Amino acid sequence: MIDTLRLSAEEAIALVERKEVTAAELHAAYLSVIAERDAELHAFLRTLDEPNGTGIPIALKDVISTSGVETTAGSKILAGYVPVFDATVAARCKAAGLSLLGKTNTDEFAMGSSTENSAFGPSRNPWDPSRVPGGSGGGSAAAVSGGLTPWALGSDTGGSIKQPSALCGNVGLRPTYGTVPRYGVVAFASSLDQIGPVAKRVRDCALLYSIIAGRDPRDATTVELPAPVQLPQADRLDGLRIGLPNQLADLTAIEPGVRSAFEATIDLARELGAEVGECDLPLSFEYGIACYYLVAPAEASSNLARYDGVRYGPRVNGDTYREMVERTRDAGFGDEPKRRIMLGTYALSAGYYDAFYGQAQKVRTLLIREHLEALSTFDVIATPTSPTVAFPIGDKAADPLAMYACDLLTIPSCLAGLPGLNVPCGLSEGLPVGLQLIGPQFGENTLFRTGYALEQALGFDTVPERYRA
Ligand code: GLN
Repeated sequence: MIDTLRLSAEEAIALVERKEVTAAELHAAYLSVIAERDAELHAFLRTLDEPNGTGIPIALKDVISTSGVETTAGSKILAGYVPVFDATVAARCKAAGLSLLGKTNTDEFAMGSSTENSAFGPSRNPWDPSRVPGGSGGGSAAAVSGGLTPWALGSDTGGSIKQPSALCGNVGLRPTYGTVPRYGVVAFASSLDQIGPVAKRVRDCALLYSIIAGRDPRDATTVELPAPVQLPQADRLDGLRIGLPNQLADLTAIEPGVRSAFEATIDLARELGAEVGECDLPLSFEYGIACYYLVAPAEASSNLARYDGVRYGPRVNGDTYREMVERTRDAGFGDEPKRRIMLGTYALSAGYYDAFYGQAQKVRTLLIREHLEALSTFDVIATPTSPTVAFPIGDKAADPLAMYACDLLTIPSCLAGLPGLNVPCGLSEGLPVGLQLIGPQFGENTLFRTGYALEQALGFDTVPERYRA
């Protein structure tokens, strides 16, 4: 029997290579766990019965186009849409032999921090099913932590890989902007969207990143990695300089239990040889969320204009073309995309453009500079990933601003285009706490090295307590 809760992707690959298990057997093993647990967790929107690769399985967030497999981005407006091509990341997984297990749940168009905005119902946190798994990639995170897949891909615009990984006790990487192709990914905010891996172990994360990263002629914003991905193996952190933002001390949004797990982890980093100092990101914490909620909705309002009842998904007929488009969009979009389309078109409208969108872009430049300055002294910046542990389903659903505040710590570095790694670093109230490590552009190897050493020293058990034998 395969213990899918404990098996790392690396170990699964070794089992297949040594022919101790076939790809088909692995696919079937994960499907049977899905059959057992997913009625409760609702991590998957759909699964594939037959293995379609010679390697280990993978799950993809439903914003990633998959040839012949329905792709909805968690929205009714894409219900029934079956792409005729693979996103580059899906094609690269296929080329690596990975077998597509299914598509995971997401907030509609990846807009949200809990998956409660999915048009198909929320996912649940494997550590406590009365709580959210985070979002928008809560489906991928719940699937990994519940043992429903060895690893998964998510997408991160303002934290949707890092934050769900934190809430579910996974390792998740938001890569440097431009290292992973967005071709074939349902666009939310194109200057922020990045695809990245979610896994149980840092090395799995690095391995999956090496499969999906690298220039794609179909995405002009991509570049070749300046250096190959290194699988981390050192368990010391000698010489590594870690910067802690001064501003963390005054952030009352950070729960005490989250703060103490974070501080204990920083102490551990010191014991492993790291030098820890203070850095300054005053504008990031003050203006990050406000800046993001102008830039991201502005880009979203433009990207979502393509859903017109003609090109994709269902149509609601009307007497005129205009009426048809209006009715289709009214019926197809949920409240959150509608809210963002309105915010975005307002921020971009003549007369307000300079005051809102233009101003937000200037602030974004300042945030980039502030991060560059901090990273000129430090190799990585460390913060908690989420100010809170997983919250109860329904807690913030009626209060968009409370939901937006979940991303306080993840958003600034996303605006700066920088990579970020979540590493589970302890428990508070019996729920996982995540450490966020931010690196310079193309600093993934440093993040992996740091995350790996801490992972070894922490010995965090990624298996939710309720599933432990
Ligand atoms: N929670 C943020 C939002 O709602 C980030 C989402 C994301 O990264 N896709 O926009």
